[in-house]
Amino acid sequence: MRVLVVEDEAVLAQQLRSHLSTSGYVVDVASDGAEGQYLACTNDYDLAIVDLGLPELDGVSLIEALRQQEILLPVMILTARSHWRDKVKGLEAGADDYLTKPFQMEELIARVNALIRRAAGRATPIVELGPLTVNTSSQQATLVGQPLELTGFEYKLLTYLAISAGRVVSKAELTEHLYAQDFDRDSNVLEVLIGRLRRKLTPHELIQTVRGQGYRLISEPEAPSPSRSTEP
Ligand code: CA
Repeated sequence: MRVLVVEDEAVLAQQLRSHLSTSGYVVDVASDGAEGQYLACTNDYDLAIVDLGLPELDGVSLIEALRQQEILLPVMILTARSHWRDKVKGLEAGADDYLTKPFQMEELIARVNALIRRAAGRATPIVELGPLTVNTSSQQATLVGQPLELTGFEYKLLTYLAISAGRVVSKAELTEHLYAQDFDRDSNVLEVLIGRLRRKLTPHELIQTVRGQGYRLISEPEAPSPSRSTEP
């Protein structure tokens, strides 16, 4: 999951980057509204955190511009306590949630998780797919009730596939959502990681390769089970 932070206070921006990274997000930081707009238009983010008081282009104008360009990612705004009117303007411009400075990082992370979950159409942090359960709140996954030992990156990859379950996810999309900007996109690191994840999910063949298109996580093995048409 990839998050854009638009914040001009360098110290706060750095804290946000560090806490979000620890929570499994890939983070890009823009220090003014114009750079934020540029990054939001050129990359595919799962969420943006936007401070309202920004140089170049203020946060409300930035959100309005993004919504006009039909960039519909979830947006959380950050405001100073004294500026409640800004909060209203931000929400009216198309923000989905807000936090008043100063705030606890734990609360910010919990809200970010919830916004991303809701955008993916899930009301709870638990994603259940047949034998596989991913708890996006505690960042743990189990297979038939047994905890899976995953590296941080394997967890990110599994979660992205699980949240997108049933849909083919291209390598380009995975790279975009899971790696920082300087990642070498031609490397076969992703194939290697998918292979490792598949072995950890054995004997359940949950990750399908769709030739020439990408990967799909399915909720039940294809064979020998009967038709999957009764899926919820
Ligand atoms: Ca500011």
